[in-house]
Amino acid sequence: MITLCKTCGTSYEVTGAHPEHCDINKWKQHDSTLLSIRTVPDFAIDQRAFLVRTPEGNILWDCIATLDDATKTLITSLGGLKAIAISHPHYYTTMQDWAAEFNAPIYLHASDRRWVMRDSPWIRFWDGDTIELTRDVTMIRLGGHFAGGCVLHWGRDEGVMLSGDIVQVTPGAHAVSFMWSYPNMLPLPAATVSDIIQRLRTVKFKQLYGAFEGKDITQNADEIVRRSGEKYISCLK
Ligand SMILES: [Zn+2]
Repeated sequence: MITLCKTCGTSYEVTGAHPEHCDINKWKQHDSTLLSIRTVPDFAIDQRAFLVRTPEGNILWDCIATLDDATKTLITSLGGLKAIAISHPHYYTTMQDWAAEFNAPIYLHASDRRWVMRDSPWIRFWDGDTIELTRDVTMIRLGGHFAGGCVLHWGRDEGVMLSGDIVQVTPGAHAVSFMWSYPNMLPLPAATVSDIIQRLRTVKFKQLYGAFEGKDITQNADEIVRRSGEKYISCLK
């Protein structure tokens, strides 16, 4: 039997009581090629996942624990999934079930391999700093919050970044932050933040979507990330 952690939504193969929950997914269309889903009422961390619609197929960015029938129908009618890409272990949730449902490989950074609690033949670990999923969609490893922490860059228009909480959009969506632990509010060292900013220096993106509802930066996102990073580093000095 599969059971889910109530705190982060990770799925475990266990015997015993199955948690009771009755969740549904709420979809939002940001524009014709970008949609997001989250579960209502709130479940676990309450992150959203994104459906990135490219000419080469749909990519699911990050994952949520509930895969309901409406979501299966909607994704299938939009062409299914070409791939699943996940920023870090807090959002692994039930990725194994989504992959099996849509016959889609799951791209995870190999540095976080030990956090996979349930194996799946669909998991593809990758090493290094970037991996191209389609001609214009790339996973970029930034590290920080997790050793293998990744963001997704999409070259559409002026560039879109889906950042999970590796680059965390702050309330008001005018700035971002970077933490090692969010519940315990433990920051990252200046050198790590400086490395993250350096890795993003040549990446062009004007829009940035964080892990949580409403955390959308719709203009000048690359500049905002750079400025936020510099401010963060100067606070640690
Ligand atoms: Zn996290």
